[in-house]
Amino acid sequence: MPIGVEDEYLVVGGWREVSLVDVLGHVSFTLWLSGCNLKCPWCSNCDLAKGLMGKRVRISEIVERVKEAETFVDYFHVTGGEPTLQLEALKTLFSKLRGETGLLLSFDTNGTLPSAVGELSKYAEHVAIDIKAPLGNPALYARVAGVEKEAGVELVERVKSSIEVAAASAHFLELRTTLVPGLLSCREVIQIAKEDLTSIHKTGGRLVYVLQQFVPYEGVKGDYARVPPTPYEYLENCAKEVARFLRDSRFEVYFRTLEAGAKRVA
Ligand code: SF4
Repeated sequence: MPIGVEDEYLVVGGWREVSLVDVLGHVSFTLWLSGCNLKCPWCSNCDLAKGLMGKRVRISEIVERVKEAETFVDYFHVTGGEPTLQLEALKTLFSKLRGETGLLLSFDTNGTLPSAVGELSKYAEHVAIDIKAPLGNPALYARVAGVEKEAGVELVERVKSSIEVAAASAHFLELRTTLVPGLLSCREVIQIAKEDLTSIHKTGGRLVYVLQQFVPYEGVKGDYARVPPTPYEYLENCAKEVARFLRDSRFEVYFRTLEAGAKRVA
């Protein structure tokens, strides 16, 4: 359920004035919002997702901080946690930034709230949506997202709807999958490419698929804190396989690692 914040506040985990890694090929001011409606056991921001880190910050203060950094960045990007849970306040922030800065707007989402994704996509030039597992395998999707198996069917339907609405309006649509050892293998990623990505229709704008490395950052809690990172070569080879399946599509394919950042393979 959406977090009940008034329009003039957002519940914020923190921000970085200049980030080179959050919007592919761009420099962004990145804001982290607190709280998430999924429980991915491998989440790299576990405390933030649980709402354990977060303070109410006035939207006017965030706008001022963004304006101070405006010369150095081309995007304002919001991530989490799950940004769409704070829809009304985030719409207010996007609208103010649209009016008071020249920045492009961007957000990450797990795609669980399609109507919120639709509303925010009307403001944003870049939308990044997770495809955590093959959409044709709801049981696995639920496992990767840390929710009850029974919730998987509705979950994948929501993600599909979010992709559809974002594809209809975002100039730059990024879809991404984290290859978490023990949860997903390259076989499932190929299934995503063959069954899910090839059925996405988008006219105009960029369409990008990013295969991401799992890294046991400090924010990862529990068993996954001891899981080693996805091996670089495995990820690279898998991204190349994906690119083969998508060669007749409009997708640009990348893989993102701690070692080398985002690298394009097709
Ligand atoms: S959707 Fe993202 S923020 Fe939420 S639990 Fe999963 S990885 Fe963490």
